[in-house]
Parts: sequence; C-alpha cells; structure tokens
Amino acid sequence: MKVGECKGIRFPWRGIIEEYREFFPVMEKTPIVTLKEGNTPLIKAENLKKKLGIDLELYFKFDGANPTGSFKDRGMTLALSKAMEEDSKAVICASTGNTSASASAYAAKAGIKAIVLIPEGKIALGKLAQALVHRAHVIQITGNFDEALNIVKALVEKYPITLVNSINPYRLEGQKSAAFEICDQLGFPPKFHALPVGNAGNITACWKGYKEYKRAEKITSLPIMLGFQAAGAAPIVRGRPIKNPETIATAIRIGNPANWKGAIESRDESGGRIEAVTDDEILNAYTLIASVEGIFCEPASAASLAGVMKLYKENYFRAGDCVVCTLTGNGLKDADVVFKVLKEPLKVKADIQAVVKALEGII
Ligand SMILES: *Cc1c(COP(=O)(O)O)cnc(C)c1O
Repeated sequence: MKVGECKGIRFPWRGIIEEYREFFPVMEKTPIVTLKEGNTPLIKAENLKKKLGIDLELYFKFDGANPTGSFKDRGMTLALSKAMEEDSKAVICASTGNTSASASAYAAKAGIKAIVLIPEGKIALGKLAQALVHRAHVIQITGNFDEALNIVKALVEKYPITLVNSINPYRLEGQKSAAFEICDQLGFPPKFHALPVGNAGNITACWKGYKEYKRAEKITSLPIMLGFQAAGAAPIVRGRPIKNPETIATAIRIGNPANWKGAIESRDESGGRIEAVTDDEILNAYTLIASVEGIFCEPASAASLAGVMKLYKENYFRAGDCVVCTLTGNGLKDADVVFKVLKEPLKVKADIQAVVKALEGII
C-alpha cells in the first residue's frame, strides 16, 4: 500500500442501524445518517464491588461514550435517517439537554435544520454548547421541559417539521440497540438491567429490545427491569404528574413522562421495580463511580447505581446476581456539578516546601 493512500476504514463499526439492520424499520432506499453510535463499553465494576462489599456481578454500560456523549444518539440515527427518507427539511425537539445535543449533531450530519426548545437556565452548559456549535436554532423558554414539549407538539401539527423527541417512534426503535449490545457483550442477558428514568423512553426501548432479541432466538431469557427516578421528579413512583419537578439530575427532571405507559409495562411484564432515589444518593453514586471505577458520568446516569445500592440494602438481590447499570451520559457535559459537591483544589505558593507541606500524609 502506498504511503498516504486512503482506502477507508478497515474494521469499521458501522453504527447501530447497519449492525442490527434486521431489527429496524429501514428500507434499501433509506439514507442512513450515522455518527457510528453504539458499540459502547460494558465495564465490570470490580473495584466498586470490593469497596461496597456487595455480592453482585455488577457492570456499567457506558453510553456516555456515544458520539455526542449520551444514549440519545442510538435513537437519533434512526430518527434522522427516517426524516431524510421522508424528505424532511427540519427537525425539532424539546430537551433537557441531551436530546438537543444529539438532534443538532445528527441534523448537521444530515445537512438539515435543527430547532430546539429548552427550559431557560435549566440545562447543563456543555449540552447548550453542543446545540449552539452544531448550529441549531436554539430557543430558551421561560418554563420547564413539559411546557416546552407541549409547544413543540403543537408546532409540528401546523408546520412541516419532524418531531424527534422520544414520542417519535423511531427514537425508541434505535434505543433498543443498547439491549442487543449488552446481550452480545455478555453472551447472555443480565438478570437485572437498571436505568435512570426521565421521560421513560430508554427503559421502554430496552425492554422492547430484549423481547425482540428473544423472539429472534438470540437469547433465551429476559432480564428484570429496574427504573429509578429522582425523588423530586418521581411521577411514576408517586402515581401522578409532578407540576414542578426538582433535582440536581437535570436529564431526568421530568414531571410528566411521555412514555409513562411503556415504563409501567416494562416494570410489570419483567417483574421489576420503579423506585425513587434522593439527590444525595445520586450524588454519592456519581462521585463513587468516578473515584472508584474511573468513569465520569452525568448525575442522572448515577441514579441507576444509586437505585441498585438502595435495593441491595433492602436485600432485594440474591448473591452473585448479574446486574447491568446503564450510565446514560458523559459527566463532562455537566461538570459544574462537581464543584457543587467537592472542594476546590488547595492553593499554595509556587515553591517546593509549600507543595510538600500541602501533601503531608499523602507522599
Ligand atoms: C435522556 C436522559 C435520561 C432519561 O432517559 P429517558 O429515556 O427520558 O427516561 C437519563 N440520563 C441522561 C443522561 C439522559 O440524557
């Protein structure tokens, strides 16, 4: 081969649509819009198991390793591919941040417009930066996510724009792929799959994925689904919409989930649970995952581990149970949270003695 002669990628991961094509509603003519999402690491949490003294086979599915830093990319590749197939000129979404980041990036790749409505002041800076840099038309509303979603729903009734929130059925279709990957990576389905729950699209999608994989005889059993909401934004747990949801975990700050029914079905059909965890429990899990396992996830992502720790204390699991926790997003998006939880670094004079003194007991 000549130096500098570029022949393409030799061992490509082709993105979730091409890798699992038979499971998706795409046609020969569907233009595939992909940033090669999926194929995210499944990491065995040995350190955490020792540190907490828990007798579980615990794994993290780190979906923060997706191209825009969250699992939303799994759904967006399909939503944008179908929008292109239908010759759409623009996509629109309401977002707590990651949906808009993902929609903006995939719209940029597809070469069409993205419009995003976000609740003012309530989205993580990194996510807002993503929407802006991908050149989406960003509109902040003086209201919350649920209000933004209502406006977006009304707009698509009137204008020829494609809605790419998780009420777009293709979003959930794409998000099924996380379940396929977990089964392929383990060689079997886990006994439990734990996820944070906001709009409840992901838990609904993963459950659908497991059922389809079983029907296709790729697996012979199904996992038990565990969903965790933040205590201040736990409509499904409380059994009624929450008017002013509050939590540090902005990605799951949702008072009236669009996929409420899907979450209940996932729980009941699998014999699982949907529970609430407090912000303190979420933040504890968040710093633990980072400091012990070396994975920096979003606060919302840590609700999965926080919930598993809570159920463990209630003796919910059996010894040696295999539990997969989805870590839904990358912590860099919302790094401000770190400074709310941890102390600023020490500041000393620029001389060796001062540094040695500051490191007393450490070196
Ligand atoms: C969207 C999102 C969630 C919530 O997922 P749903 O499908 O809305 O339940 C959780 N964590 C992160 C990081 C997200 O971006």
